[in-house]
Amino acid sequence: MKKVAFYTLGCKLNYSETSTISRKFEEKGYRKVDFTDTPNIFIINTCSVTENADKKCHKIVREARAISPDAYVAIIGCYAQLKPREIAEIPGVDAVLGASEKFRLIELLDGFVRQPQPQVISGSIETATTFQSSHSIADRTRTFLKVQDGCDYSCSFCTIPLARGSSRSDTIENIVRRAREVGATGIKEIVLTGVNTGDFGIRDGVRQDKFVDLVRALDEVKEIARIRISSIEPNLLSDDIIGIVSRSERFVPHFHIPLQSGSDKVLKLMRRRYQRELYASRVDAIKSLMPHSCIGVDVIVGFPGETKQDFLDTYQFINELDVSYLHVFTYSERENTPAATLEGRVNPSERAERSKMLHILSEKKKRAFYNSQIGVETTVLFENDIANGFMHGFTANYVRVGVKYDPLLINELKKVRISSVTADGLAEVEETETEVLSHSQA
Ligand code: SF4
Repeated sequence: MKKVAFYTLGCKLNYSETSTISRKFEEKGYRKVDFTDTPNIFIINTCSVTENADKKCHKIVREARAISPDAYVAIIGCYAQLKPREIAEIPGVDAVLGASEKFRLIELLDGFVRQPQPQVISGSIETATTFQSSHSIADRTRTFLKVQDGCDYSCSFCTIPLARGSSRSDTIENIVRRAREVGATGIKEIVLTGVNTGDFGIRDGVRQDKFVDLVRALDEVKEIARIRISSIEPNLLSDDIIGIVSRSERFVPHFHIPLQSGSDKVLKLMRRRYQRELYASRVDAIKSLMPHSCIGVDVIVGFPGETKQDFLDTYQFINELDVSYLHVFTYSERENTPAATLEGRVNPSERAERSKMLHILSEKKKRAFYNSQIGVETTVLFENDIANGFMHGFTANYVRVGVKYDPLLINELKKVRISSVTADGLAEVEETETEVLSHSQA
């Protein structure tokens, strides 16, 4: 039996796709093993957004070759779609597959027999028009369910539309069926994942549904205790969606909304589809219905043309927003993007300084949010995540909780009261109910 190992870089979408591809291998009789367990085949799923994607790819291929010198090494993913020829030149690579081909790699690379020259099987991104459903089942408690792929927006810094193609989605019927199947396996939480999740509903190039229709349909799926929306563009987060989530027993009060900049001038340069007032109105709408909700924010610092004052406007804007944490990205030039040709480059030390300031602001926001939860009765879903005798879980509104390891807690929903927050930012809890809840009670 041939052994296959996977290595995934990048976002949750990549993880869900690796998971789906690995199940296909298992169905065909391959044995999935750890990267270091001398596999016969390595599949490396790359990301174009990752800093130094090329260096990382080189490094992983080198490590794979050191572990199994004669193994077959195939590279898939966003970076493989963007730079197939360059990747094929990395010593030790046997095959590179593009976005349309990666799900058919078992058929396309028949038998995984090494050839004298690497194979490059990668069509233009325009050919990536079909939706391939995927979900991860790495953790027994939570699954990332892909509902949408690609993006029709053209943010000036982003390579994702070039790597993943145009916006396309699964049908509501398929997603609901899959959610029920996932729930039947005992998994309690689904995270709805996509490149531009809120743009859900396009099939064959035509809008056929809206994301709110999917939210409404999934709200009826009793087999799943919790549903989380991974990330949603502010201009697509409608009052209807916020209203449904606020009344839902399944959708959790946690939103991750990319802002990218709090300066209208920079937002324009980024070709984002909103201005900061719209963003603030979305935060207000959420908080007025769900004061306890958690709101995460993506921000890019050091975008070309971002002056010190623009950055300070962003800082001030976020400081005044009722949000709970930030994901801070330092801008770096990407080939073939309009932003890379813009004037007003910010020097690297200034970029780093701005990033540091926002990281500190993020910590402050997170601590304030966690402290606001002390005394609150809530439900935690404990994960299969053990370190130094402790295990962790998340409340519905994404507060990370730590307790002493107890194997009986894994994948259980427990009612607790948040009692304190540790110095390293973990919530401590006291039980409010000795009996473990089944997901239908949560
Ligand atoms: S919305 Fe913008 S940043 Fe997000 S994937 Fe699409 S183009 Fe990229």
